[in-house]
Amino acid sequence: MRGVVMYKPGDVRVEERDDPRIIEPTDAIIRLSATCICGSDLWPYRGAEPVDHQVMGHEYVGVVTEVGSRVHTIKVGDFVVGSFFASDNTCEICRAGYQAYCVHRVLMGALGTQSELARIPLADGTLVATPGHPAPDLIPSLLAASDVLGTGWFAAVAAEAGPGKTVAVVGDGAVGLLGVLAARHLGAERIIAFSRHADRQALARYFGATDIVEERGPAGVDRIKDLTGGLGAHSVIEAVGTQEAMMQAIHATRPGGHVGYVGVSHDVALPGNELFMSGVHLHGGPAPVRRFLPELINLIWNRTIDPGKVFDLALPFDRAAEGYDAMDKRAATKVLLTL
Ligand SMILES: [Zn+2]
Repeated sequence: MRGVVMYKPGDVRVEERDDPRIIEPTDAIIRLSATCICGSDLWPYRGAEPVDHQVMGHEYVGVVTEVGSRVHTIKVGDFVVGSFFASDNTCEICRAGYQAYCVHRVLMGALGTQSELARIPLADGTLVATPGHPAPDLIPSLLAASDVLGTGWFAAVAAEAGPGKTVAVVGDGAVGLLGVLAARHLGAERIIAFSRHADRQALARYFGATDIVEERGPAGVDRIKDLTGGLGAHSVIEAVGTQEAMMQAIHATRPGGHVGYVGVSHDVALPGNELFMSGVHLHGGPAPVRRFLPELINLIWNRTIDPGKVFDLALPFDRAAEGYDAMDKRAATKVLLTL
């Protein structure tokens, strides 16, 4: 099969890899219908994380082609969606809704799903089958559910977005934009998106943002205070992962409010005194996407939400390197790779 390999920062290639096979009896093999490039793939691409001949990709949708002897609920021929951690969905942590921390979790990025085929561990727990085979135009939205939608959704839930709430969103990448969508669906009254890019501002408004703030850092916090009677937002989504973004999120939140942080943290160090004096709740980390998948699939299937709009560039799989380049240069928000 063909798969994406990152040789070193800035060097992405599509090459022949061995076809995956069933290793554990709880595994399934899927043939991917589409795959995509994640904002988090840019950290190694830009040299901010070490990388050496790494298989890439952790988002996937596709059709099951083979199952192990101990897979009982997922069947060959099912169209399935999974997330970036395989999980048994039965342990105590999973049952509490924190499948990204399953005691048996497997990091899908280590297996690499920017590929034609993929091995999915713990298939019964990890995969959710759709009601049937989707219309082609639903595939991007289902793929978004695999990570960026599920992550944005968790961020909105962690930030306690809901009716009567003002929600601010730090980060106008795919996760932040879908955090806007989630906050809207959860009933937030006012949604303020931080963005200084016209195309992303337009998408934020399409997904439900009521206000756009172009300033960032302390000036951005001042704008949120202006818009909220000096109090700050009830709920703030942090979808970047830098020190500036995290402090912007904490300072934009009113006392007693909630920060949902899902940007992969890079050298964030929280000053204890500022945290102590802020009086805000912090909750986040790798999103337990599996918790939300059945609901998200249903909303997509019924065409209530269309998160697939976040893909603003689609390329044939063999041109994956161009996709990385486009996202690195911010020429694209999120790139779909067609198979
Ligand atoms: Zn578990």
